[in-house]
Amino acid sequence: MAIDTLKFCPLALNTKPTLSDSEYVTMETMESSANQAPELPCDVSQRFIFDDADIRGETVHLDAALQDILAIHPYAPGVSQLIGEFLAAAVLLSTTLKYEGKLILQARSEGQIPLIMVECSNDLQIRAIVRGAEQATSSSFAKLLSNGQLAITVDPKKGNRYQSIVPLVEDSLAHSLDAYFEQSEQLATRFWLTAESGRAAGMLLQQLPAQTNPDEVLRAQQWQHACALAATVKEDELRSLPAAALLHRLYHENPVRIFEPATVKFQCSCSRERTLNALATIDRDELEDILREHGHIMMDCEFCSQQYRYEKEDLAALFALEHASASPRTLH
Ligand SMILES: [Zn+2]
Repeated sequence: MAIDTLKFCPLALNTKPTLSDSEYVTMETMESSANQAPELPCDVSQRFIFDDADIRGETVHLDAALQDILAIHPYAPGVSQLIGEFLAAAVLLSTTLKYEGKLILQARSEGQIPLIMVECSNDLQIRAIVRGAEQATSSSFAKLLSNGQLAITVDPKKGNRYQSIVPLVEDSLAHSLDAYFEQSEQLATRFWLTAESGRAAGMLLQQLPAQTNPDEVLRAQQWQHACALAATVKEDELRSLPAAALLHRLYHENPVRIFEPATVKFQCSCSRERTLNALATIDRDELEDILREHGHIMMDCEFCSQQYRYEKEDLAALFALEHASASPRTLH
């Protein structure tokens, strides 16, 4: 499938969500939950909007979903932390789109992590892989991903893929994403990301086109005010406070409405059929050599370590099908 490099993704959600009573948590709930000793938020993403400003936001907290991913392969602490931040960012970006499909963040670098790739589907199923980082020891973003580039790809089930290439700035993924949105023609958007010890969290603010306030000066003031308050959040607050308590802490003087949380989970999209299709991209003679030697072919999913075993008959059926359709196959 062709990839278009566009400055603006046409799938971006660019209107203020309309609310019904059942869709959001009220201010009273927000305050009462802020006054209780909050339980640690787990694997949820939560949308919020400002009543008096054209600004939307999203928070995400990853706990078991992240730990399930980190349990698949051994990673150094600095690498695990970055996987957490990338996954939190992928969830936040995914929630800014109206689509069915997946959003992929893939960074390549000359640093200790040559490749990191994370995915989030529209129903918030996440997975991640890192390649070539067995020797990584650093916790520094600049060392892990030096001279890095980030590709943000939106891969909808129907229609074209959209990809943007983002240079990674030296100090953080959040600042790289901020810089990208600042330079592109998209809605003004800011990110806050954090990860530590198997927990990750993030928050996004996005300025929407004028609906509530057409006055440009007021709009700019509201946006700067919301960002300045968000910038006061401490990393441990972002990780440990549930959305209601976090937003009360930041915006108790501004009416903010919070939507019901959506669950994020680790779920790999690999399947026996997709993995078999990937075999079709390998040279046929090479596959026949493996079959002669071992009697079968094993394929491991890099994302979840699931193993798939294929016999000679499976390959025969695949190549017969391949011949009939005469179309190239790729792993999706
Ligand atoms: Zn898998």
